[in-house]
Amino acid sequence: MGLIETNQDTMLREPGPLTLSEIVENGLCIGCGLCRSITGPGDIDMAMTPEGRERPVALRALDKSMLTKINAVCPGTRIAGPAPAQMKNAALADTVWGPVERLVLGSAGNPTARFVGSGGGTLTALGQFLLSSERVKFVLHVAASRSMPMRTERRLSFDAASVLEGAGSRYGPAATLVDFNDVLDRGEPFALIAKPCDITAVRNLARLDPRVDEHMRYALTFVCGGASDLTKSEQVLQRFGLSEDELALFRYRGHGNPGLNRIETKDGRAVEISYRQLWEDEDKWMIQPRCKICPDAIGQVADIAVSDAWLNGGPAVEDEALNGIIVRTKRGLELFDAAVEAGALEIKRETGIAEISELQSHQLRKRRAVWARLRGMEIAGKPVPFVSDLALRDCAAQNSLAENLAEGRGARGRARRGRLGEPPAVPRKTILKDGRP
Ligand SMILES: Cc1cc2nc3c(=O)[nH]c(=O)nc-3n(C[C@H](O)[C@H](O)[C@H](O)COP(=O)(O)OP(=O)(O)OC[C@H]3O[C@@H](n4cnc5c(N)ncnc54)[C@H](O)[C@@H]3O)c2cc1C
Ligand code: SF4
Ligand code: SF4
Repeated sequence: MGLIETNQDTMLREPGPLTLSEIVENGLCIGCGLCRSITGPGDIDMAMTPEGRERPVALRALDKSMLTKINAVCPGTRIAGPAPAQMKNAALADTVWGPVERLVLGSAGNPTARFVGSGGGTLTALGQFLLSSERVKFVLHVAASRSMPMRTERRLSFDAASVLEGAGSRYGPAATLVDFNDVLDRGEPFALIAKPCDITAVRNLARLDPRVDEHMRYALTFVCGGASDLTKSEQVLQRFGLSEDELALFRYRGHGNPGLNRIETKDGRAVEISYRQLWEDEDKWMIQPRCKICPDAIGQVADIAVSDAWLNGGPAVEDEALNGIIVRTKRGLELFDAAVEAGALEIKRETGIAEISELQSHQLRKRRAVWARLRGMEIAGKPVPFVSDLALRDCAAQNSLAENLAEGRGARGRARRGRLGEPPAVPRKTILKDGRP
C-alpha cells in the first residue's frame, strides 16, 4: 500500500517500499531513468515497451535497501513541493500556482531561438545564456535522437548550437535522467532543463546525494500537460504510410509557435500536420498514466517554469512567439534579470495568476482534481505517491463537493478496472528493419 500526505495532519504510512514492478504496474512510473542511474551496472535496464513507454526492468532481484532508495527518489513514489520557507518568503504564493517571484509573458531575445523554440524559445535562450555567462559548464536536457529522430535522448550541451538542437517539445518518452549519476560524477556546474517530474526526481535525490545541490546550479522546466506514449507518434507515421526507419526528422512543433509537426524521410519526402490536427482527438493523446495523477505538472520545484501563452484562446499555426514565464526562486530571479539585461530574454508584459489560470485552465482543473483522484486510487486499494508541500487538499477545497466526489469515484472506478495501471514492463520485440526495438 502506498502512502500519501494530503496535508500536514493527514498521513497514512506504508509498510515497505514498492518493488520496481509495483511502481510500473500501478502506473506510477514516468520513465525518467533515475532508478537505473543510481543502481549498479547490471541491476536495471530501460526498455521500450510494446505500449511505447520507456520503463525500467530489473535484471536481478533488488534488495530492500536498494528498493528503499529507489522509492525515496522516484517521482512516482515521492513528490515533494517547495519548502514551506520558500512559500512564505516568495513575492507571491498561490495555492494552485505555488511560489512566484515574477510572472511575465516573454520570449527569447535572439530571433533564431525564438523561431526554433517550442513557444517563444525562452528555455533555449536561458540554456544558451547559462553557458555564455559561464554560470554552468553544460546543460542537461533532451533532443531528438540523431539516428532515430522520432525517439528522444538525453543530451549534454556544452555550446549554444547544441542547446538549440534540443529546442522544441518532445511529446514522447524521454528518459532524461538515465545516466544522471555519471553527470554528477563529472563534478562540473550544470543546469537541468526538463519536465517537472524530472525536476522532482533530482530534488528527491538531492536529499540523499549532496552532489546534486553542489553541481546542479539551475533547474528549469515547462508547464506540462503530459507525456505521450511513442505509439502516439507511430500513429502519425501510419497515417502517412511511413515507417520509423525511413525517418530523417520528426519534429513535434517549434519553427513557429506552435509550428507544424513535420516529418522528413531520408529519401527527401516531407509531410506536415498542424498542432491542432496532432492533438484533435483527446482519446488518442495516449498520455501516460502517471500524468493523470500528476500533483506538480506546473514545476513548483524548478527555479523557472515556462508555459505556452496563446493569447487568442488556443494554438493556430503561426501565433506570436511567446511564453508564460514563472520565476519561482530567488536564484531563478537573478538568472531571469541577468538574461533580460543581456538581451537573451525579452519581456512583452507582466501577467498575473488570473491570466495564467485562464491560459492554462487544464492545469488549474488538474491541480484541483488530483487530491480526489489519489483518494479514489487509495480506496481502490492501489498504492499512491507520497505527496508533501503541494497543497493538494487546499486545491481540492476550491472544487465543490460534487466535483471532488466525481473525481474520486472516477479514479476509483478506473483504478479498479486497471485503467490507471500498466502491463508488466517487457521490451518490445524487434520492429525496425535494421533490428532495433
Ligand atoms: C510533454 C510535454 C507536455 C507539455 N504540456 C504543456 C502544457 O500543458 N501547457 C504548456 O503551457 N506547455 C506545455 N508544454 C511546454 C511547451 O510545449 C513548451 O515546451 C514550453 O512552453 C517551453 O517553450 P520554449 O519555447 O521555452 O521551449 P524550447 O526553447 O523549445 O525549449 C524546450 C526545452 O525542453 C526540453 N524538452 C522538450 N521535451 C522534453 C521532454 N519530453 N522531457 C524533458 N525535456 C524536454 C528540450 O530539451 C528543450 O531544452 C509541454 C511540453 C512537453 C514536452
Ligand atoms: S519514474 Fe523514474 S525512478 Fe521511478 S521507476 Fe520510473 S524510471 Fe525509475
Ligand atoms: S504530467 Fe507530470 S508526470 Fe506527466 S510528464 Fe508532465 S510532469 Fe511528468
